Amino acid sequence: MDECIFCKIVKGEIPSFKVYEDEKVFAFGDINPISPGHTLIIPKRHAQDLWEISGDDLTAIHLASKKIIKAIQDALQPSGVACVQLNGPGANQVVLHYHLHLVPRLAGDPELPVATWELKEGDMDEVREIAGKIAAAIK
Ligand code: AMP
Ligand code: ZN
Repeated sequence: MDECIFCKIVKGEIPSFKVYEDEKVFAFGDINPISPGHTLIIPKRHAQDLWEISGDDLTAIHLASKKIIKAIQDALQPSGVACVQLNGPGANQVVLHYHLHLVPRLAGDPELPVATWELKEGDMDEVREIAGKIAAAIK
């Protein structure tokens, strides 16, 4: 993808703060960090989102996340790490090249909105019906 900024980062055409690289994935510091150490992991092969990424690349991303989250723990001693991944502009995905955010959480940090929704009991008939609809669509 010629115009994709994350493809350009993989090719070294624009600079990045590299954290990790292997045959399939590249990880680098987010330039608008939610907290110190905010890291993005991307597949080297362009895929827009979870719908498009191959199983092999997805596996490689998650194996790399395990390695990097350990390094974040050792280097920064966070109180936790949020793994966030958005799919589609409707979910606020801005860069349309699959990426997994690793967001270190530090004591006293403001809460992440995505991790702090209010628990409200659902309508069980609706939960059952929609789970059934999804289950029936699994291929
Ligand atoms: P998302 O909303 O999940 O698509 O988030 C895209 C993320 O990419 C944001 O957190 C941006 O700060 C980050 N980002 C965009 N351009 C760059 C870049 N050139 N280098 C590092 N991070 C970037
Ligand atoms: Zn790309």
